Amino acid sequence: MTRALLAGLFIALLPSGIGAQQLGVEEAARTITDGDFRWRVGVMAHDSMQGRDTPSRGLEQTAEWIASEFRRMGLRGGAEDGAFIQRYPLQSVLVDRDRSFLVSGSVRLQYGADVLPLGGGLTDGETTAEVVLISGSTPPSGGFGREVRDKHVVIVREAGATELGRSLFPLLGSLRSAEVASVLVTSGAESGAWAASGARAFAPSVSKGWGDAPEPAGATDFRPMLVMRTSSLERLISGRGVDVATLQARSGATARVQVVEGLRLTLTQRVRSDVTSAPNVVGILDGSDPQLMKEFVVFSGHMDHVGMGTPDENGDSIFNGADDDASGTAAVIEVAEAMVDLPTAPKRSMIFLVVSGEEQGLWGSEWYAEHPSAPIDDLVADFNTDMVGRNWTDTIVAIGKEHSDLGETLNRVNGQHPELRMTAIDDLWPEERFYFRSDHFNFARKGVPVLFFFNGTHEDYHGRDDEPESIDAEKAARIARLVFYLGVEVGNAADRPKWNPESYARIVSEVP
Ligand SMILES: [Zn+2]
Repeated sequence: MTRALLAGLFIALLPSGIGAQQLGVEEAARTITDGDFRWRVGVMAHDSMQGRDTPSRGLEQTAEWIASEFRRMGLRGGAEDGAFIQRYPLQSVLVDRDRSFLVSGSVRLQYGADVLPLGGGLTDGETTAEVVLISGSTPPSGGFGREVRDKHVVIVREAGATELGRSLFPLLGSLRSAEVASVLVTSGAESGAWAASGARAFAPSVSKGWGDAPEPAGATDFRPMLVMRTSSLERLISGRGVDVATLQARSGATARVQVVEGLRLTLTQRVRSDVTSAPNVVGILDGSDPQLMKEFVVFSGHMDHVGMGTPDENGDSIFNGADDDASGTAAVIEVAEAMVDLPTAPKRSMIFLVVSGEEQGLWGSEWYAEHPSAPIDDLVADFNTDMVGRNWTDTIVAIGKEHSDLGETLNRVNGQHPELRMTAIDDLWPEERFYFRSDHFNFARKGVPVLFFFNGTHEDYHGRDDEPESIDAEKAARIARLVFYLGVEVGNAADRPKWNPESYARIVSEVP
């Protein structure tokens, strides 16, 4: 073979432009490695991030870290004023334990030390009423009547009872319909257990601070439900001829109501509401075409998880959320890094969006879709990765393929990359309605075509064992490469993706 022929072959193999470009794309895809993936999931799902609840310090630390990665890569900030972190408002409501108490004559019982709020409505209120005691756990067959109406009702449980189990539900349900002033359930908890319950009882209840936010405190009927220490009850009724031990002994029997003669109790509950906020992180890679750069392809994942809970048998109290969704967040960051490594950026601009508040109700993506980096109509697609690190090694479900031509595009790109050993398949669980259950939906309903990459749930889903050690980083990296190739394809395509008209009519509720 002559030298001229060799040179000719090379030219045939690598025509200027396209071939070199193709090589550049493959090299960039190779920067998405198992090692990087494992490291990123390990950082976000580390115990020090405390399960990334919304809002929490661990979530803020996670956001700061992702923002610093985007900055290091050379992306520009996609939030207001070019910042990487976008903040959205939250409202937090909690019972103010220092200003909430029960008083009867000289006896004063304090929220925290003597009683704890037991879930339900967080409302301000004050109510004075007589006190009745209920012994026994089975509601009377005809229900409760006038003897409990507008009274403070104390359910005296067996000595040592601490757990508020299901056995109480019939009694509580029956009392609720009898319109009592309040319900107080006795607890024999030791001080350690009481303090732990207290930490949970006074934790703020957080809701989104815009749109259909809940009614302000005090707007609903004030009929609180509390837990009361048995020793505190004894203080309250001491000297009134009631033998608590006799009542405790009736725990299995049909409920009986006993009036405590001459005892009137004033219950004062105060709630406090604060305005707070939580972060999204947004980085942008500008497109290389002067016209198409005004259109954007979005890659999204949620960095938040469900925080901390009571310790399991191994003492683990942290929900690390390695698969849900440190894995999908790592995919977004890895795709960003690969896009930056391209010799030429795709024609369209790329938005890398990491949201929070997903677990509480898709808060961060809802806010972002209302306050996007560019007009929502210029966002041409969203590729959402939520849980891509577990289950099958050769398959990823792509939910939403049937709703736009992104499904066809994905099939074509997938077919061009057999080396990924990864097949993107259709929704396996349409009855679960996953299309409506992660962040992509907030884009879809505003008219942005989406695909949702998801490996399905598993036994550790929302459990304490969703740990980094169980993540298949090698397979997750291959999924991220597929998403990267898809992004390059859509970023360079002549036309933007198109909805299937029937899907559009059914799903898109807010036309921009
Ligand atoms: Zn998730």
